[in-house]
Amino acid sequence: MEEIKNTNENPVEHKPKNFIYEIIDEDIKTEKFGKQVHTRFPPEPNGYLHIGHAKSICLNYGIARDYKGKFNLRFDDTNPEKEEQEYVDSIVEDVKWLGADFEERILYASDYFEQMYKWAVELIKKGKAYVCDLNADEIRATRGTLTEPGKDSPYRNRTVEENLDLFERMRKGEFENGAKTLRAKIDMASPNFNMRDPIMYRVVHAEHHRQGNSWCIYPTYDWAHGNEDSLEGITHSICTLEFENHRPLYDWFLDSLGVYHPKQIEFARLNLSYTVMSKRRLLQLVKEKHVDDWDDPRMPTISGYRRRGYTPEAIRNFAEIIGVAKRDALTDISLLEFAIRDDLNKNAQRVMAVLRPLKVVITNYEGEENLDAVNNPEKPEAGSRTVPFSKELFIEESDFMEDPPKGFHRLVPAGEVRLRYAYIIKCEEVIKDATGKVIELHCTYDKDTKSGSGASTKKVKGVIHWVSANNAVDAEVRLYDRLFTVENPGAEEDWLGKINPNSLEVISDAKIEPFIKNAKPLDKFQFERLGYFCVDTKYTTAEKLVFNRTVTLKDSWGKKS
Ligand code: ATP
Ligand code: MG
Repeated sequence: MEEIKNTNENPVEHKPKNFIYEIIDEDIKTEKFGKQVHTRFPPEPNGYLHIGHAKSICLNYGIARDYKGKFNLRFDDTNPEKEEQEYVDSIVEDVKWLGADFEERILYASDYFEQMYKWAVELIKKGKAYVCDLNADEIRATRGTLTEPGKDSPYRNRTVEENLDLFERMRKGEFENGAKTLRAKIDMASPNFNMRDPIMYRVVHAEHHRQGNSWCIYPTYDWAHGNEDSLEGITHSICTLEFENHRPLYDWFLDSLGVYHPKQIEFARLNLSYTVMSKRRLLQLVKEKHVDDWDDPRMPTISGYRRRGYTPEAIRNFAEIIGVAKRDALTDISLLEFAIRDDLNKNAQRVMAVLRPLKVVITNYEGEENLDAVNNPEKPEAGSRTVPFSKELFIEESDFMEDPPKGFHRLVPAGEVRLRYAYIIKCEEVIKDATGKVIELHCTYDKDTKSGSGASTKKVKGVIHWVSANNAVDAEVRLYDRLFTVENPGAEEDWLGKINPNSLEVISDAKIEPFIKNAKPLDKFQFERLGYFCVDTKYTTAEKLVFNRTVTLKDSWGKKS
């Protein structure tokens, strides 16, 4: 697979243009669909949506929006055994959250079952479909190979009357699962396997999440999908590349019926590095508890990303950056992280938080004062807030070193550093416990070095963040790393063995400035010098704030934070 690298440091705002737009422009010129544009997103409700689906949603909705057309959300709910209402609900929520406007058009393939049945009867009457008694294994065995044609089913030449009778009895429930199928009568010698008398209906005695027990025959994807598109007046039916070889069948069904015929167009699906994306695998991660749930912030699901602090704007921007291609590729996940960082940099409130606190006592300071801190340097209108400063502070453990390497500009014994928005302090004494671990620093401050006062011209190289101990808010902070240790886990046989054992680190005693007190679930912040963080929706309680790290400040994967 070709690799798409993160070379685009500065994506520009532009109208999405790709080969699909060219096809649509041409169709509008020739009035193939009377200048209409109507797209759809057709998920099967058998799992939660992932970032690949987001690409498809952004593409389909984006086209409808750009051409002032329409966009349908349609559940392709033709397989009763794997589908659930929970998935339907989550999908509706996720599509709305992404901002794709389907204007109340939530449609269900299962609502068209009666019409599809009638159309199947029509194909039987036209001599283009037949009831076949071969079971699944026998059908597979007679399909032929790449070099050999398939064998005609012994049931292929049943009369129309017999087929009509048997098909009706299939619907009535007279046959067991797998006992009979309805097959299209096309060409067992076709070089395209999909055209070798494909199955249109199977007998499946199972309860459907919307239709209950009304049906015991269910249409296959190939038969159903074109019917659904046609019934909804879709103009451009956009799907992923693996359906390219199904297009002749899509066309054959609609031409044989002689009904309205949308155009199927294929594009390359999104594959992301360090990520698995098939719903089957995501389901396995959930079921086997490798992750919390579908919305675990390490999951590539839309609900996981939402909980992690990603924004719809950033995901839409990502979809624009990566574009739409006709060839499969592996997209660098740092492109997605770039899009998130870019959005949060512009919009996230800044606060100071200390993840691994080291106590600092300012021995020559008494009392308390409020200092001015900028809310968002990228957004002057966000203004400023006050941050309390007092005798006892916390700094980041890693901002002090007793034996610093060359080039360490933070706090060292007898050295000086600036506390952001506050004063320059000097480390006078290092307090250790019995094991020799540094547990406290005694420092002095220089009162003339208050930020912004201009009283002193003293300069130091390092600026560090801090939190006043008295006023600090305790919080739990959850640091996430990539869920997999290899670039293309989907290609590994033992893909579960490639799960990153350190993909979650929980810090239980972080300290944050008091501004954070009123933060609500999903509120987003930049913890200065540390990264972007979002209030967790699942573990946050009235007593305890829990944060998810959305993304680091820089692309620093591989380095320890
Ligand atoms: P899976 O193969 O994991 O079950 P799927 O493609 O069958 O996923 P659907 O619910 O059928 O899942 O997908 C709905 C729509 O989303 C389809 O039109 C499909 O082409 C598109 N889609 C799914 N995965 C991707 C992806 N990785 N990139 C782009 N589009 C995708
Ligand atoms: Mg599918």
